[in-house]
Amino acid sequence: MGASEPDTPGLVAPFAARAVGLALALVLAGCGNDRPGDATAAAGVSEDVTRATALLEPAAQLPPRAEIVALADTLAIASSRRGKTAEGASLARLAADLRARLWRIDQVAADAREAVELYAAAAQAAGGSPEGCEADRRRALLAGDLARDAAAGYRELYLASRRQAAALAGLASAPAPSGAPAAQPPSACLAQIDLALARAVAYRPSIVALRALEREGNAAADAASRDVHGRPASIAIPPPPSSAPSAAPTASAASAPSGVPKDVVVSPKEDAVGKGPVKVLSIERFGNEKGARVVINLSAPTTFNVGTLGADESKGKDARVFVDLARATSKGVQKEIEVGGAVRRVRVGAQTDGTRVVLDLAAALYRRVFYLPDPFRVVIDVSTRPPVRDESPGKGGRRALARVALDAGHGGVDDGAVGPTGLREKDVTLDIAHRIAPLLAHELKIETLLTRDSDAYVPLELRTARANAFHADLFVSIHCNASENGLARGVQTFVFDSGKDPEASVARLAARENAPRGGTAALDPKALDEAMATIFSNLGGADMAAKSRHVADLLHRSALASLAPRYPDTKDQGIKTAGFYVLVGADMPAVLFETSFISNPEDESRLSTADYRQKLADAVVNAIRAYRDGK
Ligand SMILES: [Zn+2]
Repeated sequence: MGASEPDTPGLVAPFAARAVGLALALVLAGCGNDRPGDATAAAGVSEDVTRATALLEPAAQLPPRAEIVALADTLAIASSRRGKTAEGASLARLAADLRARLWRIDQVAADAREAVELYAAAAQAAGGSPEGCEADRRRALLAGDLARDAAAGYRELYLASRRQAAALAGLASAPAPSGAPAAQPPSACLAQIDLALARAVAYRPSIVALRALEREGNAAADAASRDVHGRPASIAIPPPPSSAPSAAPTASAASAPSGVPKDVVVSPKEDAVGKGPVKVLSIERFGNEKGARVVINLSAPTTFNVGTLGADESKGKDARVFVDLARATSKGVQKEIEVGGAVRRVRVGAQTDGTRVVLDLAAALYRRVFYLPDPFRVVIDVSTRPPVRDESPGKGGRRALARVALDAGHGGVDDGAVGPTGLREKDVTLDIAHRIAPLLAHELKIETLLTRDSDAYVPLELRTARANAFHADLFVSIHCNASENGLARGVQTFVFDSGKDPEASVARLAARENAPRGGTAALDPKALDEAMATIFSNLGGADMAAKSRHVADLLHRSALASLAPRYPDTKDQGIKTAGFYVLVGADMPAVLFETSFISNPEDESRLSTADYRQKLADAVVNAIRAYRDGK
């Protein structure tokens, strides 16, 4: 599976056709009763409306082109006379539909351009109503079609999604006019737009382009909200991830911001590492204004010390954190790497018996330095947010849960597990993540980070790094289980803990999920588990494990409840603990969800259906809702 063809106008899925039919019915119902207007004009127009509606029937016999153009123009003029009313909107929509139909038959670009304009007018006139959204959706699809560019189509849909979500939220928060129905219907149209976006994900622009688009989207959403209500948008559109933290620590202090533990450092013991030379192989970095992670890849395990230096304004020096790597050489490694954001740059220098890696910080930040075995890496995390926070429910029994990191397992060269008929874990996990994200946004108003958003290989430590820098409040990793004999089935949820689970199968599973690039880790799983347990407990993991365990419990119960009605034979494989790399270093509660066994033929065939995946996605959304609501 994966990204399929982007949606095209006129070729909509069956349920889309139903939604269109509904919208059309609403439009027609709106014509007569919403605003009576001029009776004589209305009588004349109603004939045109009947004629246009008949011509839009799939089996309609079409008159010469000029006649259809004339009818569309008449409707467009009538629409502009009625301005921003429901009737004006429905007339513009009809005119647009006629022009769009002509475009599909004749491929005359002028028809498509005219239709795009008319849909935009219809969307404006109808505001945040379902009709307005439907007009905007059609406009976006047609504009992409006209450009003959899938990336442009993605962009149009994305902007439409932002506009309509904002307009809908604006309507919901506006005082309901007397006599009008108070509740907004759930937006089938927005779901349609998001579905089309998910299908076109292969054409999603680069991160840089997407950030620019975010800003454009915010402006568009703002404008849409103002247009509908004549006042600024009342909902907060989440700022782009590059925005500066509101309470940045000052650069003058060398220590961490007040009231917070000093640096957390977890280095291997002297007797646990060899005596031979060690090479710094490469240095990776990831970060934004909220935090950063620097990973030093080494050829063999070694010990390290961590130190800090305060900012010296008289000498123009930033606050620094440095790591001295014993016995390490750094020949061939770039000596200065610009980063930007929380970490300005990374510098590498030789010492008498080792290598010093210095991070120049934009401010005094919370710092944490630890290692990951096999292959040996030293990880330096810095953040504007304290690593340990009180997440107990506050006022109204709710937890502050604004951001969730969704981690679709595997990707790119790493297929993950592969089922008997060839279904790949990496495709299933991405699709489920794509089903969860729009639901979190629209139903819970929770901002989502996808640690990967396409079929790309993303190293495990980068996944948590992204989640940390996003300041996620929760991390959910999605996977498919696999067993060697192919008989095992059902749902299993994991918490990263001290790796004391006695089951060998769990250790093997951990080894598989941890393995870089689909291979097998070189270290014996037990030794790996022990090493990870030490690191974890030193990172203050016990407290986080308790919270994670709670989330896992909610998720596990939610999954069984979601699947039971349709799949009553779903097997409960329980909640387990294991040493998953992907969850270490996450500074928020984290769980790993093994949706089902892709190695089992029956589970595989279920995992290949949209229905099953949707139920799994619903389960994750329901669990997150329950956790936020203080359950
Ligand atoms: Zn997996």
